[in-house]
Amino acid sequence: MNTIAILGGGLVGSLLAWRLARQGKKVHLYEAASENAPQSAAYTAAAMIAPFAERSVCHPDVFNAGLRSLELWPELLKELEQDCGVKVRYQTQGSLLLAHPSDYAEMRQFEADMRIHQLLNHVSVQHLAGSEVRAVEPDVAAHFTEGYWLKNDAQVDNRSLLLALKKAAQSMGVEYYFNSQVNKDHVNKGQVNKDGGDWFCDGTKINAERFIDTRGVNAKSEINNLRGVRGEVLWVSCPEVNIQRPLRLLHPRYHLYLVPRGEGRYQLGATEIESEDRSPVSVRSAMEMLSALWTLVPSMSEARILSFETNLRPATPDHKPIIQQHENTLSINGLFRHGYLLAPALLERCEKEYSLNLNMSLFANALETDYA
Ligand SMILES: Cc1cc2nc3c(=O)[nH]c(=O)nc-3n(C[C@H](O)[C@H](O)[C@H](O)COP(=O)(O)OP(=O)(O)OC[C@H]3O[C@@H](n4cnc5c(N)ncnc54)[C@H](O)[C@@H]3O)c2cc1C
Repeated sequence: MNTIAILGGGLVGSLLAWRLARQGKKVHLYEAASENAPQSAAYTAAAMIAPFAERSVCHPDVFNAGLRSLELWPELLKELEQDCGVKVRYQTQGSLLLAHPSDYAEMRQFEADMRIHQLLNHVSVQHLAGSEVRAVEPDVAAHFTEGYWLKNDAQVDNRSLLLALKKAAQSMGVEYYFNSQVNKDHVNKGQVNKDGGDWFCDGTKINAERFIDTRGVNAKSEINNLRGVRGEVLWVSCPEVNIQRPLRLLHPRYHLYLVPRGEGRYQLGATEIESEDRSPVSVRSAMEMLSALWTLVPSMSEARILSFETNLRPATPDHKPIIQQHENTLSINGLFRHGYLLAPALLERCEKEYSLNLNMSLFANALETDYA
C-alpha cells in the first residue's frame, strides 16, 4: 500500500494522521521532539476557537474559516471519542471581552470594527452592563462596568486533544517516529534550494509516495517568507475562583486573555512579539501578564504560578494560512495565532482542492449555516 509521510506531529500533522488512517491509508508520522516533551505551538496554545473575538484583528477569510471550524469541531470530537474512547473537553460558553474604564477607547474601537463588519447586532454578540458582566462571571473585578459576551466562541482542551489524536491514529496503524528530524537534502547540505529533492530523516532517505509537510515554523527552508512570532504564556492554579469562559482584556499596548483550563488551573497569555527567540519568558512580559490577571480577577492574587512557557507561531506576511503542492509534497502552514480556529476548515479545503481523502465532506451539507 502507498505510504503517506507526515512531517511534524503538531496540530495539523496530528489531525491529518488520524483522518487519513481512518480512511484506511498507510501513514508514517515523523516528529522532531520526543514523545513526552512536545515542542509544538499546538501544545503551548490556549486553543481558543474565537472568530468573533478575533474578527477585528484577522483577515475575513480567517474569520469565515473560523465560523466553519466552529461547526466542524464538535463533529470531529464526537468521531474522535468513538475512535479512541477519550472525550476531549470543548467549552462552548463564548468569550467575554473586557476593557478597564480608562481604556474604553479600545472598546469603542472594537465596536466600530464590529459595526463595519456588520456583526455588532449579530445574535452571538451581546453588550453587557457591569451588573450583567458579574452575572455571567461573578469573579470578574467590579471596576469593569461593561463588556461584550461573544457567545459562539469556543475553546478546546488542546493537550488532551493531541493525546487523543495520537491514541486514535496509533490504534489505526499510524507509525510514529519521535526524535526524528526531517529535512530536505539541500538543508542537510547547507544549500538554499527550495525546488524539489528528497526528504531525509537522520541521513536516511524517506520512502513514501506522498509527503505532507506540517513542521510549523521549522518549514521555513521550504516556504518563502514564513516567520515565527513569539508567544509567551503562564499557567496558574487558583481553585478558589470559578471563571467559566475565556476573558479577553482590551488594552492599548497588549491584548491578553485568561482561559480556564479545568481543575482550578488557568492559562494566561499571550504576548505577540516579532521575534524567533524561544528563550524563557521575559520579566516585562511576566509583569504585563500578571498585571492583566490582577486587573481581571483581583481575587487571583493568591493564585500559584505553575509554569511559564514560550513558543513560536508560524506566520505568513498576510497572516493567512498557506497550502502549496510541490511535486509529491503538500505543505500546510502559516496558521499563525489561529491554528485551532482554522484547522478543521483547512482540512476540508485540502480534501476538496488537493484530493486528500479525509472524509470531511461527511459533515458538509448537514452543517451549512448562514451567518450573514
Ligand atoms: C502562545 C500561543 C497561543 C496560541 N493560542 C491559540 C489559540 O488560542 N487559538 C488558535 O487557534 N491558535 C492558537 N495558537 C496558534 C496555534 O498553536 C498554531 O497555529 C498551530 O499550532 C500551528 O499548527 P502546526 O501543526 O502548523 O504547527 P505546530 O503545532 O507548531 O507543529 C509543528 C510540529 O512539527 C515538528 N517539527 C518541527 N520541525 C521538524 C522537523 N524538521 N522534523 C520533524 N518534525 C518537526 C514540531 O516539533 C511540532 O511538533 C497559539 C500559539 C501560541 C504559540
